[in-house]
Amino acid sequence: MSTAAVNTALAASLRTCQDHEAELGQLDAVAGDGDHGSGIVRGFTAAVAASADATESAAGSIIAAGYAFGDAAGGASGALWGVFLQTIGKELSDGELTAEQVVAALGKAEAQLERLGKSRPGDKTMLDTLVPFIASLDACVSKGMSLTASWKEALVVARQATEATANMIAKRGRSAVLGERSLGTVDPGARSLLLVLEAVAPVIAESET
Ligand code: ADP
Ligand code: MG
Repeated sequence: MSTAAVNTALAASLRTCQDHEAELGQLDAVAGDGDHGSGIVRGFTAAVAASADATESAAGSIIAAGYAFGDAAGGASGALWGVFLQTIGKELSDGELTAEQVVAALGKAEAQLERLGKSRPGDKTMLDTLVPFIASLDACVSKGMSLTASWKEALVVARQATEATANMIAKRGRSAVLGERSLGTVDPGARSLLLVLEAVAPVIAESET
């Protein structure tokens, strides 16, 4: 994994969040405060800049991106995304990156999200996309599939899981106050996480070949 690949992945994440900024804000406005689109764009803008400055190592670049994200984005998701990226960076060693390392790093980062957010799958959060995604990725990698193929397969699961958050009642974050009102609407944090997982896929494919 190279620092250039990290920067490309973050830039692709920023682009898709910009493209969907209004939609993410509208999803968040149903039961929350409507700031998810703007917050996530602010976070990734800062993350891209920080990763471009941190050129010594790919892992260091992800960690720097995480700190910058948390500082810039604010809100629950800003803190959560910040810790998510920091944990991934700390878990990944530089040099050759194996699919198993990626699965392990995502697993650690997911556990940190649960700890920080005091949330569990089923609470209608980004975890409801992330947990099934990692489970599917892990299963594919364990079968000996490449990271690229595994990521693609796990995205199918993640898309269904994101849609399924519409049937959940929000139990965490601001949306929990008006929890029932969130019924019928996809969780904004689950949606943005899916967008990022989709945006990163071609960068992974490029790095693996
Ligand atoms: P805020 O709720 O502070 O306005 P955002 O609107 O940016 O933050 O993000 C809302 C999203 O953050 C939710 O849709 C949910 O996916 C995620 N989220 C909020 N609180 C938690 C939590 N405690 N654990 C996990 N995810 C959370
Ligand atoms: Mg919000």
